[in-house]
Amino acid sequence: MQGQLAGWDDTIAALATPPGIGAIGVIRISGKKALAITDKLFTAKKISEQPSHTLHVGLLKLNDIVLDEVVVALFKSPRSYTGEDVIEISCHGSNYILQQVLQAITSLGARPAKPGEFTQRAFLNGKLDLAQAEAVADLIASNTEASKKAALSSMRGGFSEALKNVREQLLKFAALIELELDFSQEDVEFADRTALYKLVSEAGLSINKLISSFQLGNVIKNGVSVAIIGKPNAGKSTLLNALLNENRAIVSDIPGTTRDTIEEVLNIDGILFRLIDTAGIRLHTSDIIESAGIERSLEKMKHADLVLFIFDVTDDKKEIEKRVHDMKAEGLHYILVANKIDKTNEIEARRQFGHLEKIIFIAAKEGKHTETLKEYMTDTVLHGKVQTESNIVTNARHYHALKEAATSLEEIQAGLDNNLESDLLALDIRRCLHYLGEITGQVTNEDMLDYIFSKFCIGK
Ligand code: GDP
Repeated sequence: MQGQLAGWDDTIAALATPPGIGAIGVIRISGKKALAITDKLFTAKKISEQPSHTLHVGLLKLNDIVLDEVVVALFKSPRSYTGEDVIEISCHGSNYILQQVLQAITSLGARPAKPGEFTQRAFLNGKLDLAQAEAVADLIASNTEASKKAALSSMRGGFSEALKNVREQLLKFAALIELELDFSQEDVEFADRTALYKLVSEAGLSINKLISSFQLGNVIKNGVSVAIIGKPNAGKSTLLNALLNENRAIVSDIPGTTRDTIEEVLNIDGILFRLIDTAGIRLHTSDIIESAGIERSLEKMKHADLVLFIFDVTDDKKEIEKRVHDMKAEGLHYILVANKIDKTNEIEARRQFGHLEKIIFIAAKEGKHTETLKEYMTDTVLHGKVQTESNIVTNARHYHALKEAATSLEEIQAGLDNNLESDLLALDIRRCLHYLGEITGQVTNEDMLDYIFSKFCIGK
């Protein structure tokens, strides 16, 4: 497969640090010519003759013009990130210098790397499997402790190992069953059906566990969109400010979200809560014609993963009950926030509204019970699942492949129950092998790889 990929043999180079001015900027070169190119530029000593995993300080020169004083790190094949010869040059972090050095490197026979091409090579050289390579991108994009943990665990092998194991065992069964086909006249069974049944049911259990971890994985990776809804004066902005004061998250960009509707992000216990349309909350609500306000609230609610429905505990009970009823009918995930308990008292408020489910009583203005609300928010999205070190699927591609694999495992099981003929059974096993292989990259095609790695940044 490796030889078929266009440009596979080229030596590639790219800036590995973010563009812009920094103390240092690192340029990475990978491929057959990496050492020869560096030899031509680096004047202090012959890099190609130095041992792997060493650092060297000296001048980079092209045609007797000094480009920079640099530190060269040397990683010889196969003990490098990509598996090829890799050179990392730490230059001074001026854009001008970095561009000059990159140009010098490309003028000597390297070409600019495509997004993710270093990691793609690491995958193609067997340094990482596909799920691990994808986790590298997730790790770079991670912005909470939880998303970092999940990505790090996947990158270090995570569930890949378990899947590879299942795949290998299934492969053996497939081979044995296919062998039976050659002896179809003689009615022999090489593959032990009982052992196959055991393998398939055990694999089914662990794969279903992974599938159900995706809900949590998605929360960890992408966060949870939250809408704060309520009548004017219910206390929406007061609550928003109370939450933001302690938990405002600094995030540069969250994949898959539109920046224009989401302005604030909270980090509560490592989960990112993205508040939808906070501009709407901050608008002077009395300026909005009531019906337009309601329409907008409905739109917001439908798009949110979680709705915080806030009301004043002195509001009319019947009206609140109606709104709750409507939200239930819409199938929304909501938390009722009974605000301003200081205006009556908590006992009275509970007497009025305590019969409603998923309710938290607070006084937003003085921050009373807002901690309880935060706990309730994380509980609601985690569904009581604790964030342990166990394997969590955060990648939608893996999730879909796992679901297909689980379906084919069920089909194998049903086949075994019904004494399905060997040729059909083998087909089901092959299908399952296909989906499992797609996750770890044992089954790939060039389009899929290009798609996956194109989402990386350049230099990775
Ligand atoms: P919004 O229109 O829903 O955004 O409501 P605001 O947050 O602007 O609050 C409306 C009024 O209710 C303001 O005068 C707030 O100070 C007041 N308010 C908010 N929370 C509380 C609370 O817990 N107790 C009391 N007594 N007043 C509150």
